[in-house]
Amino acid sequence: MGKKVLVIGEMKNNKLRNVTFEAIAASKLMSKENEVIGVICGEGNLEAQATEMIYFGADRVHTIENEKMKAYTSQVFAKAIIHVIDKVNPDAIIMGHTAVGKDLAPKLASRLNSGLVSDVIELEEFGGNIVFTRPIYSGKAFEKKIITDGIIVATIRPNNITPLDHDDTRKGELEPVNITIDTVDVIIKDVLKKATAGVDLSEAKVVVAGGRGVKGKEGFEPLYELADLLGGAVGASRGACDAGYCDYSLQIGQTGKVVTPDLYIACGISGAIQHLAGMSNSKVIVAINKDPEANIFNVADYGIVGDLFEVVPQLTAEIKKM
Ligand code: FAD
Repeated sequence: MGKKVLVIGEMKNNKLRNVTFEAIAASKLMSKENEVIGVICGEGNLEAQATEMIYFGADRVHTIENEKMKAYTSQVFAKAIIHVIDKVNPDAIIMGHTAVGKDLAPKLASRLNSGLVSDVIELEEFGGNIVFTRPIYSGKAFEKKIITDGIIVATIRPNNITPLDHDDTRKGELEPVNITIDTVDVIIKDVLKKATAGVDLSEAKVVVAGGRGVKGKEGFEPLYELADLLGGAVGASRGACDAGYCDYSLQIGQTGKVVTPDLYIACGISGAIQHLAGMSNSKVIVAINKDPEANIFNVADYGIVGDLFEVVPQLTAEIKKM
């Protein structure tokens, strides 16, 4: 018999992040029989977003609309979601392994006295249990975990689980929830966005990343051109960030963002273990490096030994011809 899975929807610029739909698909991977109940919190009318969750496979969606939920704060969002958990009584709670998920999931797990499994990249039903696979030791190994007691709380790494097909004939219930929020210790007045908006790095299907080999800020320009052409985002090694060639928001790796795009193009990156921790699970890795001994070639599916300032423009020109 199916179980109740609560999927916490996450929004960016008033649109649901793709990882929300991946979380719905993950709930169905646990069992096709599962009932998927969504919850979204936000400031304005959330009907369109809730309907989108239904089109992607949710059976019903709770919306909590409150002026104090313009931006995420731990205190307010945790209070609202706990209210829904008490109402729904789910068997499992799933959300994205994003900045919000990393903050919220442990809070919920501790409040529920439950086990938490984070950064999940695969899950399957086996012998009546749900087996979660997650990378450990900076992606060098994988562990499989089972939670046997209480409510399962899990966060899933973006870009690993394929969302279900979008079906705009699907029907489901929208259930607005009213809650009173009195105590608010932190108020977010405004969120200042970086000038480099574009495609979200953590969810991009293509990432073109530059390292110290790009040699300067202007060295990133051919990478931006290639990324734009492929509808992707630009990332960087810490070497490039430390050297001041780009903003730290682009850093990929152990102390930066973790990305799992379909295609990762590493340009002038040596492949230090700390960098690999953030990208080695990409589906196809292309490395461009002058040094044939560079460690990045050990994880690359395709390696090009050459000068990135010659190879990247050639690649761009060839793709433009297609
Ligand atoms: P380098 O190692 O200097 O490599 C530059 C590469 O460019 C070389 O392989 C060179 O052959 C190649 N090259 C040069 N010119 C060209 C050219 N014209 N064409 C083609 N190739 C060229 N690093 C991260 O990336 N992310 C992290 O999150 C991170 N976290 C860290 C955490 C800790 C605690 C520590 C200690 C380190 C961390 N690092 C991290 C740093 C990491 O160890 C490396 O120092 C860093 O990744 C190196 O960056 P790089 O590959 O760009 O530079």
